[in-house]
Amino acid sequence: MEANMAINYAKLFNRRVTPQSQPIPGSTQVRNSAGGYSWEVDDWTRFDRFLILGAEGGTYYIGERDLVKQNHDALVRCIKADGIRAVNRIVEISDAGRAPKNDPAIFTLALVVTHGDASAKAQAFANLNKVCRIGTHLFHFAEYVNAMRGWGRGLRNAVGHWYVDRGAEDLAHQAVKYQQRDGWSHADLLRLAHPKAPSREHEAVFRWMLTGADSLGEREVKRKVRGEDRIAKYAAVGELPKLIEAFEQVKRATNVIQVGKLIDEFDLPREAIPTQWLNEVAVWEALLQRMPMTAMIRNLGKMTSIGLVQPFSDAAKLIVRKLGDETALKRARIHPLAVLIAEKVYAQGKGEKGSLTWKPVPKIVDALDAAFYATFQNVEPCGKPVLLALDVSGSMGGGSVAGSCLTPREASAAMALVTAATEEEYHIMGFSNRFIPLNISPRMRLDDVVKRISNLPFEATDCALPMIWARENAVNVSALITYTDSETWAGNIHPAQALRQYRSEFVGDAKAVVVGMTSNGFTLADPNDRGMLDVVGFDTTAPAVIADFVRD
Ligand code: CA
Repeated sequence: MEANMAINYAKLFNRRVTPQSQPIPGSTQVRNSAGGYSWEVDDWTRFDRFLILGAEGGTYYIGERDLVKQNHDALVRCIKADGIRAVNRIVEISDAGRAPKNDPAIFTLALVVTHGDASAKAQAFANLNKVCRIGTHLFHFAEYVNAMRGWGRGLRNAVGHWYVDRGAEDLAHQAVKYQQRDGWSHADLLRLAHPKAPSREHEAVFRWMLTGADSLGEREVKRKVRGEDRIAKYAAVGELPKLIEAFEQVKRATNVIQVGKLIDEFDLPREAIPTQWLNEVAVWEALLQRMPMTAMIRNLGKMTSIGLVQPFSDAAKLIVRKLGDETALKRARIHPLAVLIAEKVYAQGKGEKGSLTWKPVPKIVDALDAAFYATFQNVEPCGKPVLLALDVSGSMGGGSVAGSCLTPREASAAMALVTAATEEEYHIMGFSNRFIPLNISPRMRLDDVVKRISNLPFEATDCALPMIWARENAVNVSALITYTDSETWAGNIHPAQALRQYRSEFVGDAKAVVVGMTSNGFTLADPNDRGMLDVVGFDTTAPAVIADFVRD
């Protein structure tokens, strides 16, 4: 009996060394999805994570539906606590193009007009144009909001303003390029909002949106929305913008020369071209001349497959030049993740879906590689030694980043290389529950890096390893930057404790940054440790924020 009594109380209540399967005594740690203990991020950090990473595709541990639900509840708490702050944050992230996709911002704005107080709703309505910048965004907003609440006057007015506050030419562009999505069209929204046309040109565009070009005179159109019949009328008084006339003409074109001429003369976008012409080199050649950056990046495979883009071609030169224009990339809000996906897909010579194949032109892959680095907010190097630690455990190879074809593991390698490319003193390591040799550097092309990372084995997770490594190897680093989902569980000491040990023996003010690669609610960062910071992976400002934090 005596032996059994000899419980080691010190070992069971040790705030310095606690296995990750238990919470640090006296801390606010919670059980994570992997069964280990991490901290919970606060609701506003979660708000940012959702805006930037969304919940599409879920994570390795959390299915998409549950992840949406968890984030939804945190978003609503933020909206109820401070709706104005919520709207301002949505606008800040959406308008600056900091997120790979705009859908989470649109969804969150719809939540504000559903759950916010009167002032929050007013703020959301006043900023609808800044978040819903193109027709497709507005259709998504309509779809979300239609599922959440009724079409009251404030909402209808805000949607009406979307149509009235832009010039008729811009409206024509929206009408031609973004015709419908999610079962919503401009006609549906005009019927709901029924804004008064501010000019004869607007009146003509509204009428065309409602009834098409073939109708003569006034017509009433109805659509049932939430059980109500709504009617809108616009008179045939003004002339249609030339772009819409050209759009109507191209529908009736009988040869490729006519199509090319209409594109040249009126700048018709790809969306306006009937599909029967979309395998013609001449058509794509005409489109490419003034093709917006986003469309160009998305259609590189297509343009290569039909033979327009090939080594030494004018098209390839034009694309390389456009991709090298940093100002244009930023103006077009091209997100680094979009470039990274384009590079991965283009370099593999076949689409993720469908049967399209092509021979990639290496110069274009190189141009995409350079564009990736150029799309982040400018980074002022911190000028200090930093350890870049990539969690490459099994869970990081599951789920997807912002609904893309990249796993958190693949995407985090690219993120780490942004910091590596700007700092002089860095070391990149991979870990799961052991160290995994990675051999990657910013001198490698990202499509090769992604390939190398994607084939790693699935293993357990110990996020304390980077801190332990720094201590055991007696290296002096100013910051340990971990790219992870914070689902740590397999170690004998928590990362925050291992960091304290490292600080006590080596660099007293060493900092730790947790780059969250999923929108789950967990973090390795101790909320009471001011030397630990949470940032959101694939926020375009993340590398700059990390450098600033380490520098000061
Ligand atoms: Ca893991």
